[in-house]
Amino acid sequence: MALLWQCERMGETLTCQGSWVRPSHRWGEFLSVCRNSEFPPGMDFPGIAWASKLPLWIPDVLTDSRFTRTPTAARLGMHGACIVPIRTGHVIHGVFELYSGTVQPADSHLIHILTDTGMKIGQFIDRTRAGEALRATHTMTQSLLASLPGAIFLCGRRLHVQYANTLAHQYFAPPGESLIGRPLSECLSLSESTLQHLVMEWTAHTADPPHRLSERECEVAARLYRYRFFPVTTPNSPQYQVGIVLWDITDDKRLQDELIQAEKLSSLGTMVSGMAHEINNPAQAILSMAELIQDENDPDTVKQFAADIVGYARHVSTVVRDFAGYARAAGRDGETEIDVAERLLEAVKMVRRGPHFGQVEIATQFDSPVFLRARKGEIDQVFVNLISNATQAMEGSGCLTLGTSQDGRWIQVTIADTGPGIPASIRPRIFDPFFTTKTAGKGTGLGLSIVHKIVTKYAGTITVDNTEGGGTTFRLRFPALTQP
Ligand code: ADP
Repeated sequence: MALLWQCERMGETLTCQGSWVRPSHRWGEFLSVCRNSEFPPGMDFPGIAWASKLPLWIPDVLTDSRFTRTPTAARLGMHGACIVPIRTGHVIHGVFELYSGTVQPADSHLIHILTDTGMKIGQFIDRTRAGEALRATHTMTQSLLASLPGAIFLCGRRLHVQYANTLAHQYFAPPGESLIGRPLSECLSLSESTLQHLVMEWTAHTADPPHRLSERECEVAARLYRYRFFPVTTPNSPQYQVGIVLWDITDDKRLQDELIQAEKLSSLGTMVSGMAHEINNPAQAILSMAELIQDENDPDTVKQFAADIVGYARHVSTVVRDFAGYARAAGRDGETEIDVAERLLEAVKMVRRGPHFGQVEIATQFDSPVFLRARKGEIDQVFVNLISNATQAMEGSGCLTLGTSQDGRWIQVTIADTGPGIPASIRPRIFDPFFTTKTAGKGTGLGLSIVHKIVTKYAGTITVDNTEGGGTTFRLRFPALTQP
């Protein structure tokens, strides 16, 4: 009888995993005792051989006190036994036991053969386990490659496909056909120029040292793919020279185009509303002056009002022209040297004609004249927006302080009001387009976003000093035109 015992439960016990009995021997009872036994190291013959890593020869098991299965063995007439470890090096995989029906004197030659057999079985177990591990890794790699969200080709010499994953077949192979062994250009049905490009990239990649390969796009059968070569660094697989991974980006691209279109429409909307906002201020001024003219009899005053109306109308046309200018990449033609204090006073004049000015007092702190190179219309827009926000905040009473100064290579403009200030919670958003706290018809939320855009266009900065409840100061800084 031969029995195979294997290490189980993290190597804590030996259990009987296999058996062979000569058909003429009715030793089934002993086999079921073994099947129900577990031996830790050192227990019974299997445990002893396991712990010592050496073979055991027992001439008659019935006279050996270490044997725990004596009653059954005695009943069945079992006597001689040999127990051999199954091992590779120092690692024990298990043991095998051989039983005979007669008393067996020790046979050193047989022990030697059996020990050798134990080591051969050990090597066989090792190889089987390594094979299983390799197969598991292979299966995992295959399923990983198959489930990757990209089509993958591994190519050999002359860009012939050596491997293509499931998605590659799904994208590029006619139903039921394989891509393996075919030229990559044929699989991807590429145009001559794209193919040239691919070959160039491939050559660049196989050159020494390899260049960094960027992602590119190609069209195959009316679908758009982004692709990228990658190095295949398996020294033992020289058949793979280079890999290529492709992603189908047709739907993403369409979505992106739709988004760009939507973005364009939205910025068009922003521009149109901005234009309405900018025209509204001078239009209000023109309206109120025209109303005054209706009741005015003094020809000189009428002339003065008419001259102002002409000025505001010009401003409107400048605003319209400037908005058109925004649409055309915000050019810088038409710039002149601007006296900043003069433009501030002009802006006050315009806002004064509007509906919110009331009894607001004006204070000025103009240091030596400061100049700026910019389009007059745009600077007017900045000042009119800031001053009209300030007067709106003061609701008809308070003090508006305008200041200019120069500090080395920077000029500074301040517009300060005694209104309620800007709550800290909304401060980060005041420059966002369409952000407003005013009721419909009073504010569009575009004023400060336009101001910001113009100021940054002239390499300037805009900041708000603000003590909640104690007024607001907008501080603009621009690179100076001249030294002080
Ligand atoms: P709008 O004036 O149309 O609301 P703006 O972009 O010019 O749009 O201003 C955005 C918001 O910033 C205003 O609604 C207001 O809440 C706040 N704001 C701007 N300037 C001042 C100011 N001087 N004092 C208090 N709040 C201000």
